Amino acid sequence: MTAATPGESTILIIDDNADTIRLLSAMVRGQGRVLFATSGAAGIDIARLQRPQLILLDVEMAGMDGFAVCDAIQRDPDLRSSAVIFVTAQSTAEAEIACLDAGAVDFIPKPLNAAVVQARVRTHLRLQAALAKLDGLAHQDGLTGLFNRRYFDSQLATEFARHRRHRMSLGLALIDVDHFKLYNDRYGHQQGDACLSEVAGVIRDGARRPGELAARYGGEEFVVLLPNTDHAALQTYGDWLCRRIAALNLAHPTAPTAPYVTASVGLCAQIPGEGDTAEALLHTADMALYEAKRSGRNRPVVVAAGAPPGRAVDPAVA
Ligand SMILES: [Mg+2]
Repeated sequence: MTAATPGESTILIIDDNADTIRLLSAMVRGQGRVLFATSGAAGIDIARLQRPQLILLDVEMAGMDGFAVCDAIQRDPDLRSSAVIFVTAQSTAEAEIACLDAGAVDFIPKPLNAAVVQARVRTHLRLQAALAKLDGLAHQDGLTGLFNRRYFDSQLATEFARHRRHRMSLGLALIDVDHFKLYNDRYGHQQGDACLSEVAGVIRDGARRPGELAARYGGEEFVVLLPNTDHAALQTYGDWLCRRIAALNLAHPTAPTAPYVTASVGLCAQIPGEGDTAEALLHTADMALYEAKRSGRNRPVVVAAGAPPGRAVDPAVA
């Protein structure tokens, strides 16, 4: 097995006949990286590790047959994005319908015809690439290119649970552009959007460690998930963010804080314990942000997680 080069498709052939594997491999060579397994169980294991875009699956196999393998693939959330094409000697309409009903995207009849195999594989690899792109877009904020709030919320839940299992400290930063309404009033919404894109660029640059995730939380508010980050690192990160956003030097003459665009940052971190929730951690970050605003803006404030709740929502401090 060779490692996939970026952007290259992976095709997994599962067939209990070595001659068929050899023949199919030769036919699809050049369309991607080709892996194979000679049993359903081995095929599922390889699929879990390698996440192939396409699985060419023999229907008639000893032991676990193609339908059972396809069913296991459909049920596994990690494998659901792999498309299955059945390869079968049964070419009746009933057999074809059974394949599609089982969750396959297509089927290839035996005996194998090189042109048919290549055309089907090409078509479905293209479709898979388009779906992957759509999936990525669904997670993205259209203006800034950062992740959107919905995706952030799902990742926060996942990371919170993972940090609880491994007793690691999960950090959060909430970032809010200071006096953004005044900026829009002065320059208009189009330039307001350009300002948000610039700020988002700084936030993206600051979240490049593995697992770090930056999202637009709404309006002029951003959020960053900081895996395996303790309290001490938060202050440094918050200082860096404020400094870099100010250094963009985007003129903001009507802002009372400074004549350029600044941001306030609320930070917190926690090793999640039993009874702790991701919502409470987010609420703590929100309280820290409120404190950063209240104490003069253009600064980070780190608050210990588990501090008493009860941020008063004061529209004057926005
Ligand atoms: Mg067979």
